[in-house]
Amino acid sequence: PTATTRTTGAARPAAAATAERVRADYAALKARGLALDLTRGKPSPAQLDLSTGLLDIGAAELGPAGAGADHRNYGGLTGLPELRAIFAEVLRVPVEQLLAVGNSSLALMHDTLVHAVLFGVPGSARPWGAERTAVLCPVPGYDRHFALCEKFGLEMIPVPMRDDGPDMDEVERLAAADPGIRAIWCVPTYSNPTGAVYGPETARRLAALPAAAPDFRILWDDAYAVHHLTDEHGEHGEHEQHERDEQHEQHERDEHGDHTPPGAPGTTPPGGAAPAPGILALCAEHGHPDRAFVYGSTSKITFAGAGVAFLGSSPANVEWLTGHLSRRTIGPDKLNQLRHARFLRDAAGLRAHMARHRALLRPRFDLVERVLRERLGGLDGATWSRPRGGYFVSLDVPDGCARRTVELAAEAGIRLTPAGATFPYGRDPRDRNIRIAPTYPALDELETAMEGLAVCVLLAALERS
Ligand code: PLP
Repeated sequence: PTATTRTTGAARPAAAATAERVRADYAALKARGLALDLTRGKPSPAQLDLSTGLLDIGAAELGPAGAGADHRNYGGLTGLPELRAIFAEVLRVPVEQLLAVGNSSLALMHDTLVHAVLFGVPGSARPWGAERTAVLCPVPGYDRHFALCEKFGLEMIPVPMRDDGPDMDEVERLAAADPGIRAIWCVPTYSNPTGAVYGPETARRLAALPAAAPDFRILWDDAYAVHHLTDEHGEHGEHEQHERDEQHEQHERDEHGDHTPPGAPGTTPPGGAAPAPGILALCAEHGHPDRAFVYGSTSKITFAGAGVAFLGSSPANVEWLTGHLSRRTIGPDKLNQLRHARFLRDAAGLRAHMARHRALLRPRFDLVERVLRERLGGLDGATWSRPRGGYFVSLDVPDGCARRTVELAAEAGIRLTPAGATFPYGRDPRDRNIRIAPTYPALDELETAMEGLAVCVLLAALERS
């Protein structure tokens, strides 16, 4: 199956809900005086508890390592090799081209743009800030990417998001015609918020893109590279399949009338070929070795806020970035990096750790799917993603109803991400997309919030009809 499957409400018989019933449900909802929040795309306390072991690593283990450097001191600008080796495999970046820096990948994206705007990137004729610079933004997308562009005066051009990445015909058409277009945001694995996984063909076309700008960059934010909700990983060729989960998926497909065959874009056949090359290798193969910056972090693996962030790129880009970075810092927090390396051990240890996250997350995503199906299954124009990983569910309500739904929910004590947040400049042209973040609330709260949200969608739709 593709990384995300959309369920269409209209495929089901019309809901029995009458106008009076919907109004009565909303009045009852408001009377409950709820205070619930579906905006927080962050780990729950139980997920954070999974990494308590990070704090148990003793002084003896963190001291000077034999003949090696003393990690308690300055230095080691590029980060700890042991930790970089674990994430080099996951992010598909050669370890010598992967930096471990700071605690936030968003900060690294911010810095990349700052340096690009002030100085240009390798291959730039002038700084990005010295001429019109536009960035392609697959929509719906991640609001903080858009906020960075807005802050630095980079024009944003939306392109539609599909199940296997952005509409590449549109990306190619725009980038080939406009030398001012110098970058594209990509969240290649379990995209925020749609859950889309970029297929191999999408990645290849991005690498090969005949961009008019010689300094075109792919901002490849692989924030959810290991954040699977199933055993069937649609990530660029990696594939593990377990019978039990496959049966569950098949059951779900049957239930939803979704007959997408296993092995659709974004996966490899059972038995699995070797993992597909990463975006850096693809770009190099297509004659654009400096095209991609790859980002990742442990924010949703260990502690969000006390984790480690990563940036991988070509040797020229890494040299460019470390040149700037060396003015900004004398070195990263290597003790935290060492704790992470000891705690996670290797890529297999990381995957085992992520399976424990999954056990906590999967019931939440299943619950969201069940409530949406039961409550909005008959509503024309209501569709939603069924992500196979990541942190969000993307809900499209009937056109013109998102803003009103969010308003109705707020009045009933349910906080939702502002309508429009998933679009550049906060402008959702069809006013229909709502991002749901199910990871943080306790299950019973999530159920109450989702039931309430469904009532608000039905009422907003009713008001417009
Ligand atoms: N990138 C994406 C796509 C995200 O969804 C998030 C957080 O929600 C981040 C980056 C933030 O990453 P970090 O905590 O490493 O700054």
